[in-house]
Amino acid sequence: MKKNDMPAWDLSDLYQSINDPQISKDLEQYRRQTASFARKYKGKLATLSANEFLAAVQNIEKRSLIAARLGGFAYLNMVTQMKNSEAVMFYQSVEEKLTDYSKPAVFFSLEYNALPQAKINEWLKDKRVQTYKYWLKRLRKFKDYQLSEPEEELLLEKSLTSGDAWVRLYEEHSSRLEFTIDGKTYNDAELSKLLLDKDGALRLRAGAEMNRVFKQNSHLMTFIYNMVIKDKAVEDEKRGFKTPVSARNLSEDVSDESVEVLAQTVKKHYKDIAHRFYKLKAKWLGMKKINYWDRNAPLPFSNDVNYSWDEAVKIVLNAYKEFSPKLYKIAKDFFDHNWIDVPPRDGKRSGAFCSGPLASEHPYLMLNFAGKQNDVLTLAHELGHGCHHQLRTKNGELNEHSRMTSEEVASVFGEMIVFQSMLRNTTDDRAKLCLIASKVGDMINTAIRQIAFHFFELRAHTERKNGELSAERLSQIWVEEMRDSLGDYVVIDENSADIWPMVGHFFFLPFYVYAYSYADCFVNSLYQVHQSGTVDNFADKYLDMLSKTALEDYGKLLKPFGLNPNNAQFWEYGLSLISSYIDELERLDKKINK
Ligand SMILES: [Zn+2]
Repeated sequence: MKKNDMPAWDLSDLYQSINDPQISKDLEQYRRQTASFARKYKGKLATLSANEFLAAVQNIEKRSLIAARLGGFAYLNMVTQMKNSEAVMFYQSVEEKLTDYSKPAVFFSLEYNALPQAKINEWLKDKRVQTYKYWLKRLRKFKDYQLSEPEEELLLEKSLTSGDAWVRLYEEHSSRLEFTIDGKTYNDAELSKLLLDKDGALRLRAGAEMNRVFKQNSHLMTFIYNMVIKDKAVEDEKRGFKTPVSARNLSEDVSDESVEVLAQTVKKHYKDIAHRFYKLKAKWLGMKKINYWDRNAPLPFSNDVNYSWDEAVKIVLNAYKEFSPKLYKIAKDFFDHNWIDVPPRDGKRSGAFCSGPLASEHPYLMLNFAGKQNDVLTLAHELGHGCHHQLRTKNGELNEHSRMTSEEVASVFGEMIVFQSMLRNTTDDRAKLCLIASKVGDMINTAIRQIAFHFFELRAHTERKNGELSAERLSQIWVEEMRDSLGDYVVIDENSADIWPMVGHFFFLPFYVYAYSYADCFVNSLYQVHQSGTVDNFADKYLDMLSKTALEDYGKLLKPFGLNPNNAQFWEYGLSLISSYIDELERLDKKINK
């Protein structure tokens, strides 16, 4: 496949280029407006009428749009060319300026949270103020965890050289890692492809090389990770969060208990899901036990189908259309307007993501499309994120926010409908087995493995309280959690013991990983409802739910589907879908080998 057949994204809806004269104009406007905002309102919030308060909120909204556009553009412009120092420096300079210029406005949330509720209720009687009610409620949520104004200012100012600096070092360093196999040099995205090769010996060489490079860099990675954890712990303690997960859970509106129930329920099913699956996988690969790097290997009897970009687009859009013409229409825009960066390139960040700097405007998708079946599902996944974002633009810049537990719902659901459509179009038993096996492998990576990651970071953060963790200790915890979750049929040895820094979320979004599992079980439950046909107009209700995921609590959102997330059975229901696929795999396996 020629790379030039695959589109690059067009960021001109944000800015024309880093030399766009509008950039310095916007930066200056942001600086001036923030300063005048502080002069006008600081120390006076309690005296404002509803009308005056509304003007203050509208000012915040306007500035937030400018900052999001600037920061978003600088970031997206950089991620496809991490080796271009001009792009990297531009990003850093915009971030520094935005942080600097935003300082005078730090008082607002502090002063707002010091107000008596009666004052806020009085403002909320005004219909125009009410349009911001979700945002105002969210601001209030952190009331008990806020520090004094000088402390908040200092934390913000220091973040560039503390927490954020470590993340930056991690990201820049990881993107420069090089791997050598048979005399040839690869970056991590290219190496990841070798890990999916049909040749088991090549997979092992690639995996072992991955482990070797991470081990070689373990001093730096361990140092960074210890700093990331400590930086967070210092702030958590000052703010009064009880556990390392608490801050994340609060911003998610999920209780510490529910996350604990999810994690424990998943752990309970390691055996009948992951362990059972890898036993089958070992059999298919003709091995007594598989290597860690064989988990996602294609089956020997699978057809190595390669998809062109156009084919992938057609498969995904057709499946979306079949589920809901409305969803299809939203999805199609991404292709018609070049909002997707498709081909892998040297210096481009690996993996895939959807990023919408402005809540009220369309987002962008970044892919590294290599034409594999998995790349088709990744497109379905990221497109799900994109549509989810588009369904929410009407909620306004301030009311919207990213809630990670539901952020992964539309994406995983999008993947599921594309998978089901691919399965329906497959008649051969062997091909069917391969497709389901690959899906189950992914589901285990999401629902099960991410919880093993969760336990890894929980233990790392807990042990860090007693001092820094050594590289050896981190590897040891990693190996224990991997063995526990993957089971006896997966070998975890010196070729995979040191790769924990591969999980970027440990660094840039601590305690994010459980959200994948949360969303996967959430979607699996929803999907079972869809399949059962018990809910009328499911697709419309589903899209309606997606439009409100940042606004309402999960109990309310799931009510139309007869689901209750506070019930442990909710998680079991989701996990049972994976179990049922493994039952189907065992059945197909017997049938084929008869
Ligand atoms: Zn995602």
